[in-house]
Amino acid sequence: MSDVKSENRARFGVPADSMVFARGVRKSYSQLEVLKGIDLDVPAGSVACIIGPSGSGKSTFLRCINHLEKISGGLLLVDGQFVGYDLRDDKLYEVKDDLLCQRRAEIGMLFQSFNLFSHMTVMENLIEAPTQVRRIAPDQAKAEAEILLKRVGLLDKVDRYPRELSGGQQQRVAIARAMAMKPKVLLFDEPTSALDPELVGEVLQVMRDLAESGMTMVVVTHEIGFAREIGDQLVFMDGGVIVERGAPRQMIADPQSPRTREFLSRVL
Ligand code: ADP
Ligand code: MG
Repeated sequence: MSDVKSENRARFGVPADSMVFARGVRKSYSQLEVLKGIDLDVPAGSVACIIGPSGSGKSTFLRCINHLEKISGGLLLVDGQFVGYDLRDDKLYEVKDDLLCQRRAEIGMLFQSFNLFSHMTVMENLIEAPTQVRRIAPDQAKAEAEILLKRVGLLDKVDRYPRELSGGQQQRVAIARAMAMKPKVLLFDEPTSALDPELVGEVLQVMRDLAESGMTMVVVTHEIGFAREIGDQLVFMDGGVIVERGAPRQMIADPQSPRTREFLSRVL
């Protein structure tokens, strides 16, 4: 662990095993406050599931963790490092672009819309970032890509283009592509929401395997069954705040807040 990380952890009381550490995270778009003080601890190797109605700030929070948005207040660290800022001589500095890219490369993000490069084959999709950003030799990147494609059950699709694949297959490729960068944490923003119902299961199965292999994951999802089985913690967001959190099984069976109860009754 680098000195900066140990220093940050000591100073802010970040647990040694913390992957995502959020305290009072706020985010505003001009007058609109979208995140109103989010606290979250995601220990390394654990899965946090986030549920909540549309517009509650779930995507914005993931985008903050992934350096796609700058937080307006609070404290946010990924693996002991500030998101968007660096602390030097007791002052916070904005992270420079090159460092930002480096940090973002350590975080994988999956979207509802897959976002594969449509003009590239499956293999080209997987080796693009490792060879361009991480400067891995193409042969090595290909060998690693094959292992990942095997893992998501798509080794036979290496030379296909995204349009030749089903939505479920495309999302599995997207997950393999994210894993090719060896991320410290994977963020999922409703990864199965755009899929036909019969294709949801194969994507959740890949996510389950990743979780079981010890991958740290933050998953925004409406798949309550997945959250119950795979989640180490469940968070219910509404109106930019965390209304309730807890062990998934317990929270789903016996929600304490009327807002959680009402939401769960709609999605279950
Ligand atoms: P969720 O993912 O829970 O549906 P979002 O994080 O996407 O919620 O959005 C939360 C709120 O923030 C919504 O009111 C949305 O309109 C607003 N919002 C999100 N992104 C922007 C943006 N770039 N500019 C202005 N408002 C935004
Ligand atoms: Mg969203």
